[in-house]
Amino acid sequence: MEKTESADVVIVGAGVIGCSIAYHLAKEGVPVLILERGRVGQEASWASAGILTHGRPASTHPYERLATLSRNLFEPLVKELIELSGVDPEYRPSGGVHIFLDEEGVERAKNYYRGSVMTGLEVEFLEPADLFELEPALNREARAAIRFPGDASIRPPRLVRALSLASQRLGTRILEHSPVVGMEVRSGRVTAILTPEERIQGGSFVLATGAWSGLVGDRVGVDLPVYSSKGEIVLLESLPGKLGQIVNNDGHYLVPRSDGKLLVGATEEAVGFDKTSTVHGVLELLEWAFHVAPGLSDATFVTSWAGLRPAVRRGGPYLGRLKDFQNLYVATAHNSNGMLLSPASGLLMSQLLTNRPTSLTLEPFAAPFEAD
Ligand SMILES: Cc1cc2nc3c(=O)[nH]c(=O)nc-3n(C[C@H](O)[C@H](O)[C@H](O)COP(=O)(O)OP(=O)(O)OC[C@H]3O[C@@H](n4cnc5c(N)ncnc54)[C@H](O)[C@@H]3O)c2cc1C
Repeated sequence: MEKTESADVVIVGAGVIGCSIAYHLAKEGVPVLILERGRVGQEASWASAGILTHGRPASTHPYERLATLSRNLFEPLVKELIELSGVDPEYRPSGGVHIFLDEEGVERAKNYYRGSVMTGLEVEFLEPADLFELEPALNREARAAIRFPGDASIRPPRLVRALSLASQRLGTRILEHSPVVGMEVRSGRVTAILTPEERIQGGSFVLATGAWSGLVGDRVGVDLPVYSSKGEIVLLESLPGKLGQIVNNDGHYLVPRSDGKLLVGATEEAVGFDKTSTVHGVLELLEWAFHVAPGLSDATFVTSWAGLRPAVRRGGPYLGRLKDFQNLYVATAHNSNGMLLSPASGLLMSQLLTNRPTSLTLEPFAAPFEAD
C-alpha cells in the first residue's frame, strides 16, 4: 500500500546542493525531508576534485558575487560541520598556481595577473625561479606562473557526509532509494511528490537533482535545459609534500592531498549518463600531468573514476522558484563549481524558502524554460 510522508520542505536529491540547503534550513528549525534516488552523495558530489577557487571580489557580475560569498562562507562552515557531525571535510588552504608553458606564456601570465588585480583578487606573479623554488616537481620550461594564495581544496565525499549528518542531527530526515517519478499539481501548486512507493506532501518542493534535473523536470512537467557533462579523474600517489599546492594549466589541474595522494583532473565530454573511466580519458590526464610535473614520474597509479556535472549552455546555476509554480523551486546547474558554490546556494535557498531577505538577489539565477 502507498505510504504518505510530509515535511515543510521536501528536497529531491542528496548531493552537496540538496544537503547544503537542508543544513541551512535545519539550522533555522525547518522540518526537511530529502528524497534520494540512490544513496547520499554518491554522484557528482562524490566524484568532484574539491577545488575551492575564488570569486572576484571587486566584480559586480552576479556569478562572481555568488562565488565570493560562497568562498567566504567556507571556513566558518567547515568548523561548524566538524563540531556538529564529527566529520572533517579536510579543508586545505594550500593556494594554487597557474603555470604557463607556451611561448606567449609570459604575456598571458602578465595579462591574467593584471586582470586578477583589477578584480580585487590576492594574486602573485612568479618568475620561473620563484616557481621552481616553491614547486620543484613542475616542468622547468615554464615561462611564468601566477599564484592565488586564497585557493583551497576539500574532500568532497567528506563534505557531503558532514552536511548530511549535521542536517540529520538538527532534525532533517533522508529517504534513500526513493526516486521521484511524478508530482501532483493543483492550480499551480504542487500538492505532493511521488516515488514508486510513497506520496510525499509538503509546503515547498526543491529539485536539487544535479545532472538529472532535465530528466526529473520531464517527469514533473518542467523543461529544465540541464545536461550531463562527464568528467574523468585519475588518482595517483606520491611522497607527501612532493607537490604543495593546486596546479592549473590549460583547463586541467593537479590537487595534492596531505597524505601524498594526487588528483589529476578533469576531462570534459557530453556523452549522456555514461560514468565509465575510459582509456582515452586516463591517457589525456596522465600525459598532461607528466608534461606539467615531470617530477611526479615516480608516482603510482591508484585508481580512476568519472562523474556527471550538471551543465547548461548559458548561465547557471539556477537558484529560485520556478515561475509557473507557487511552491516548486530549483537549485541546480552548478556545472564545474558546485562544491565552491554549495555554501552560498544552501544559504540563499534557505533564505528564500523561509521568506527572509536573500543575501544576494536571485533574479540573475532564474531558471529559463527550454522555450525561452
Ligand atoms: C570530475 C568532476 C570534478 C569536479 N571538480 C570540482 C571542483 O574541483 N570544484 C567544484 O567546486 N566543483 C567541482 N565539480 C562540480 C561539482 O562536483 C558539482 O557541481 C556538484 O557536485 C553538483 O552537486 P549536485 O548536488 O547538484 O549534484 P549531484 O551530486 O549529482 O547530486 C544530485 C543527486 O540527485 C539525485 N537524483 C537524481 N534524480 C533523482 C530522482 N529522480 N529522485 C531522487 N533523487 C534523484 C542523484 O542520485 C544525486 O545524488 C566537479 C565535478 C566533476 C564531475
